[in-house]
Amino acid sequence: GEYALFDVEPVLRRAVHWVSKGGPESLEVDYDLPASLRVFGHAGQIQQVLMNLVQNALDAMAGMEHPHLKIRGGEEEGGVWLQVRDFGPGIAEADLVQIFDPFFTTKPVGSGTGLGLAISYGIVNEHGGRLEAHNHPQGGAMFRLDLPSLRPGD
Ligand code: ADP
Ligand code: MG
Repeated sequence: GEYALFDVEPVLRRAVHWVSKGGPESLEVDYDLPASLRVFGHAGQIQQVLMNLVQNALDAMAGMEHPHLKIRGGEEEGGVWLQVRDFGPGIAEADLVQIFDPFFTTKPVGSGTGLGLAISYGIVNEHGGRLEAHNHPQGGAMFRLDLPSLRPGD
């Protein structure tokens, strides 16, 4: 596929749909997005990144009675930002520096390959964007994605 301008909201909703099909019926997702959020990139690859983030969020909330995701986004200079926040235990301070490393996983053998975030980081980097992990001050993990909205040179 080719890089093009696309609206990221349907891609985001598709990512949540595909990942949560195998997850809890009770998943609540709050979207807080402007009417149009255009990204310049490869929609399929960005969907893959978002699926990885949502899958990790669901894994982190496994066993919770009310799993809940907050997805926010907005425009910034030359690009868009997206935030995917969950209400799981967050990421251990010592792990924060390693989670983007290939094969780093804290999941039981056979359930995590440790590749999701490494691949996502590579895809976002290839787009000229950024992917960052934080713990939210009120608990849970929060991933921030910055992506360009302009064709290079425009
Ligand atoms: P995998 O999901 O196969 O373990 P990833 O590369 O997707 O591999 O994630 C690496 C590690 O980062 C996870 O094993 C987990 O320790 C941590 N992690 C990622 N997302 C979250 C999250 N939302 N909450 C808590 N920990 C997370
Ligand atoms: Mg993963």
